[in-house]
Amino acid sequence: MSTDEEVKAEAAAAHFVFVPLMAQGHIIPAVDTALLLATQGALCTIVATPSTAARVRPTVESARRSGLPVSLVDFPLDYAAVGLPDGVPGGADNMDNLPPEYMLAYFSAVALLRGPIKAHLRDRAPRPPTCIVSDFCHPWTVELAASLGVPRLSFFSMCAFCVLCQHNVERFNAYDGVLDYNHPVVVPGLEKRFEVTRAQAPGFFRGWPGWEKFADDVERARAEADGVVMNTFVEMEPEYVAGYAAARAMKVWTVGPVSLYHQHAATLAARGNTAAIDTDDCVRWLDDREPGSVVYVSFGSIAHADPKQISELGLGLEASGYPFIWVVKDAGRHDEAALAFLRELEERVAGRGLLVWGWAPQALILSHRAAGAFVTHCGWNSTLEAVAAGLPVVTWPHFTDQFLNEKMAVEVLGIGVSVGVKEPVMYRMDEKDIVVGRETVEAAVRSAMDGGEDGEERRCKARALAVKARAAMREGGSSHANIRDLAKSFQVGATQDTPE
Ligand code: UDP
Repeated sequence: MSTDEEVKAEAAAAHFVFVPLMAQGHIIPAVDTALLLATQGALCTIVATPSTAARVRPTVESARRSGLPVSLVDFPLDYAAVGLPDGVPGGADNMDNLPPEYMLAYFSAVALLRGPIKAHLRDRAPRPPTCIVSDFCHPWTVELAASLGVPRLSFFSMCAFCVLCQHNVERFNAYDGVLDYNHPVVVPGLEKRFEVTRAQAPGFFRGWPGWEKFADDVERARAEADGVVMNTFVEMEPEYVAGYAAARAMKVWTVGPVSLYHQHAATLAARGNTAAIDTDDCVRWLDDREPGSVVYVSFGSIAHADPKQISELGLGLEASGYPFIWVVKDAGRHDEAALAFLRELEERVAGRGLLVWGWAPQALILSHRAAGAFVTHCGWNSTLEAVAAGLPVVTWPHFTDQFLNEKMAVEVLGIGVSVGVKEPVMYRMDEKDIVVGRETVEAAVRSAMDGGEDGEERRCKARALAVKARAAMREGGSSHANIRDLAKSFQVGATQDTPE
């Protein structure tokens, strides 16, 4: 039975409502952050769409069963209300299952969730919310928070370096007068020199015809937030965390790496979706490999490659001679040529190379002692999961923030080897083919796994970062303290400090 004190503490605890973007790279860290806040007694409600909610429900339910005050509510999208034709595939409510041509309408449909969310919080939530934690891509949560009379924090599954570079490029109009999208400009307002191109860092939702208003709304919502929650840790990038807080004149709570919330193989394996490979088999396969000998290759939840790229990557991995796990995603994503190549490769490298046909238990694989390097598209979660595991990375950005994350890994942290891709391979206006050749793949993998003195230096830096990452998440560490501070700052009746 609860004591009076416990009842009072529960009634006064913060109630965070998480509104993630429906994309695995956004909802996975949002769920982990909610679970971390729940460990501090805060009530957390996570909002999702049905097919996306289904993927994270096992994680949330297992946390609930262990006594954490967290719940997941899902609301279907009303595509008809935003004039979308019947052609939208059934169950498409996530960035990875929605055809790109529907994307702008999709954001309009998501904005219509404001009413149902408000009604749910009014009629069915155990207590009124005290704070909205909104993915930075949801400008409509400004009105949601205002109508509920609560503060709103912007949630970034990105690093401060990336967000600050992008902010400075826009704020100081760095591309003014630069007509060539591939012409490098220096990121203004930073002590160190970094070059970017408009193709690599056009600004969030910038550069696509028809998206101008949405991009402006997103920027306004970021500027008007009451604070920022970021999946990073301050010891990794102190100057950029401070720089972004100063640029926005708002508090930044760094709370990562949030993947370290999961301490057990079973919950790590279930993170973000049901794995397409038996987890025990996968661990046994890794157990049979030498420590630090396996190359893990995955390009996240959205990126896909054309058949030519698939064969060049596969042949490069094969030629490298290292054992590897390659997440090729489900067979339905490939055409016949790519499938035939993959099946033949799978046979040729049996015993040395493992292909995962669908969702991989990534965080579990990276944390296994057999993992040696990660060939990544530089999605921020993947990059930070490599950091948390102490692994060097082969960087292969595909789109959006991934080019700045590559700079973070290679130029800021010194743990990455680039394959040299200079412009987006997806979400581009033209049909230009960008293919990384097998020799380049092989050389980059060898460099990350061996690479002489430079390789050893990268591995040392990666291991040192992992030690700092774990320290940040432990009791007394910076991210742990920030989680605790967040839970306290948004308790019932708390007042927030405003940074000067
Ligand atoms: N992920 C996973 N298994 C997969 C693919 C992705 O567990 O097969 C997870 C990965 O660990 C990360 C997230 O999904 O937490 C992907 O986020 P990221 O920012 O790296 O890339 P995105 O998918 O957003 O491009």
